[in-house]
Amino acid sequence: MEVFDVIIIGAGTAGLTAGIYAARAKRKTLILDKKRPGGQAATTDEMENYPGFPDGVGGYALAEQMSTQATRFGAEIAYEEVISLKLDTWPFLVKTYGPTYKAKTLVLCTGTSSRKLGVPGEAKFIGHGVSFCATCDGYFYKDKTVVVVGGGDSAVEEGMYLTRFCQKVIVVHRRDELRAGPILQERAFANEKMAWVWDSVVTEVLGDDNLHGVRVRNKAGEERVIDCDGMFVYIGLDPNVSLVKGKLELTEDGYIKTDKRQRTNIPGVFAAGDCQDSSYRQAVTAAGTGCMAAIDAERYLQASE
Ligand code: NAP
Repeated sequence: MEVFDVIIIGAGTAGLTAGIYAARAKRKTLILDKKRPGGQAATTDEMENYPGFPDGVGGYALAEQMSTQATRFGAEIAYEEVISLKLDTWPFLVKTYGPTYKAKTLVLCTGTSSRKLGVPGEAKFIGHGVSFCATCDGYFYKDKTVVVVGGGDSAVEEGMYLTRFCQKVIVVHRRDELRAGPILQERAFANEKMAWVWDSVVTEVLGDDNLHGVRVRNKAGEERVIDCDGMFVYIGLDPNVSLVKGKLELTEDGYIKTDKRQRTNIPGVFAAGDCQDSSYRQAVTAAGTGCMAAIDAERYLQASE
């Protein structure tokens, strides 16, 4: 069984950055992900706040550049889903559906997953009417009407992206003011294709073979149906921690607990990016913590040699 100096789980912004640093330090580095590199950032059409790109950069294009940069220094990237970790032995064991790998250090960059509404009809239409990714699915709603649920940066940014295709984008938000940043709000309120349903929640997704509408209820308890062809849900993100639940310390809100050097409570195991960050969750902070984790993994390796 091959022993890697550093195994990084997750090829999003944090994981790829950790990969660049670990490989450039001449450490035998493997990055594992079940799907294409990029994580959440790769599902963003245009990133306007990633430093160094005054005209913005496509999330997927940035991810491609990062993975080219990591492999250029010798990092290996494998498309394999990790199914379990053994952390009470050293080197640590990383089990996938294919091979099991050994790692002297681990950097967990497992990111987050979109939160679901959990209302009747949502699960039935996921993939054909209910989506969590405008960049992936927006094109299918050309000249259609869609509902976007949520009031944060994602809902507003992705809602505006959808106006490129859709005839109308109706944002349903549970309060009467948005959580999204002021620049996004300004642009969204000026966009004539956007409509707003305040103080309301979606209680049911309606349709037969295709989605036809959503039922919403307002604060006064009044219900009505909004006719639409699709629903995009952006109500926040949950950390992907199933691999380490019961094995690593988590924070009260369920994220991997790290110190200021990205160390978890098990020496040699580090975490970076959104899976350990409940407050910033930006691509640039993911890159920053990925870098820190790799530098401290290197220090750990040096100390153990
Ligand atoms: P978020 O900031 O947590 O916002 C989630 C939104 O969904 C909130 O408006 C929340 O309402 C609403 N919500 C939560 N649970 C709900 C439920 N059960 N039913 C209905 N509505 C519900 O999540 P996000 O927008 O995905 O953003 C995640 C992080 O990524 C944030 O830190 C954000 O700043 C960052 N981000 C940044 C950018 C950018 O900088 N351009 C773009 C995208 C995301 P309340 O407001 O009432 O809580």
